[in-house]
Amino acid sequence: MTHDAAVLEAGEIANRLLAPSAGQNDKAGRFSAEAVESLGDAGLLGLLLPANFGGSGLGPRTFAAVTATLAEADASVAMVYLMHVLGTACISAARPGAAAALTPILQQIATGRHLSTLAFSEAGSRSHFWAPISRAHRNGNGVRISAKKSWVTSAGHAQSYVVSALAPEGAGPTDSTLYLLAAGTRGLSVAGPWDGLGLRANASAPIALNDCEVPSEFQLTDDGAGFPAMLNVVLPLFCLGTAAVALGLCRAAVAGTAAHLKNAKFEHLGKSLGESLPTLRAQLAAMQIDTDGLAARIDDLVEHLEKPRETTMLRVLESKAAAGDVAISVTSTAMRTCGGAAFSKHLSIERLFRDAHAGAVMAPTGDVLREFIGKSLLGIPLF
Ligand SMILES: Cc1cc2nc3c(=O)[nH]c(=O)nc-3n(C[C@H](O)[C@H](O)[C@H](O)COP(=O)(O)OP(=O)(O)OC[C@H]3O[C@@H](n4cnc5c(N)ncnc54)[C@H](O)[C@@H]3O)c2cc1C
Repeated sequence: MTHDAAVLEAGEIANRLLAPSAGQNDKAGRFSAEAVESLGDAGLLGLLLPANFGGSGLGPRTFAAVTATLAEADASVAMVYLMHVLGTACISAARPGAAAALTPILQQIATGRHLSTLAFSEAGSRSHFWAPISRAHRNGNGVRISAKKSWVTSAGHAQSYVVSALAPEGAGPTDSTLYLLAAGTRGLSVAGPWDGLGLRANASAPIALNDCEVPSEFQLTDDGAGFPAMLNVVLPLFCLGTAAVALGLCRAAVAGTAAHLKNAKFEHLGKSLGESLPTLRAQLAAMQIDTDGLAARIDDLVEHLEKPRETTMLRVLESKAAAGDVAISVTSTAMRTCGGAAFSKHLSIERLFRDAHAGAVMAPTGDVLREFIGKSLLGIPLF
């Protein structure tokens, strides 16, 4: 698959399946299994997977474009997709000893029959996902894990979960290991409902692990090497992906606002809202300027990821922090510009506004990113 073909497929799924059902799924808090099936049929679940596993071997540029295209129609599905791509990246980057057990899973992903996700955040360490409270305990050839994973996108729908836990002999708070747990693992259960303010259709429910046994071939990283994997494998793609979700939301907000300003009329003036009020045109323009600014920032991050350099990690952190703020600002302006029609849920703007608030609180949160950036500018250690 080429970059253009992947973006075209994503656009087709967005128009045919996501856009018509996003409102209903949001209202009902319904996970769209049919969206995942379509993404799998189109080959998009294996987008970044190397060709030797049957994947398309495409890179961050295509991932960002596909994710933004999906988010423009339904940010819940885009977030499910993003977490799957991250889970897949962790599985395909696994230590050599796990290759024999993991290859069939990667092949299933490539054929679109396996959805994965990340289960990092824990009730005890909250948004500080880099410091799990849970610890893996040696158990014969593998480990046993009990944990309270507080938010797991696609909980109960994914076929596998990439789980973090402190390494059995880990001494420090970040000495974690990553493991792959199949959905059917004994002791793994969805521990509550998902009824969020936004991204309501992505099943980000808590998961409980009670004495789950994990054989050694499903240990993804070396003991204690979970933290470097979080930083090097997960963080860059997560920040890029959440920025792309934010971009999709902003584009949808601009399009929705423009349509409303064209279609809604002041009948007593014989003009549309947009024709009547320069303030509304200025607000729409400000939204467009911020949206294009975010798109340029994402392009810049993609270039940094394609050709890594000294400033790449700074761009990674900046992009998610900025994207969270831009998405909230653009969708807030859309709410004000579209007035009572948006407030009373006659338009999809209020869904975009609610969905836009997730990015900034997903870890690393916007506050934490600003803290990291500030510390690094001053030469203060981050952890
Ligand atoms: C829709 C959704 C989907 C999610 N999906 C997943 C998933 O698939 N997998 C997963 O592992 N997790 C997932 N999460 C969890 C997410 O990544 C965070 O862990 C979670 O949102 C943290 O919420 P909290 O209330 O525990 O934050 P808290 O840690 O209690 O933070 C509260 C406030 O303190 C601020 N804060 C915390 N630490 C600092 C600091 N050092 N400096 C400055 N400010 C700080 C935060 O920014 C925040 O404003 C998801 C969350 C959401 C909302």
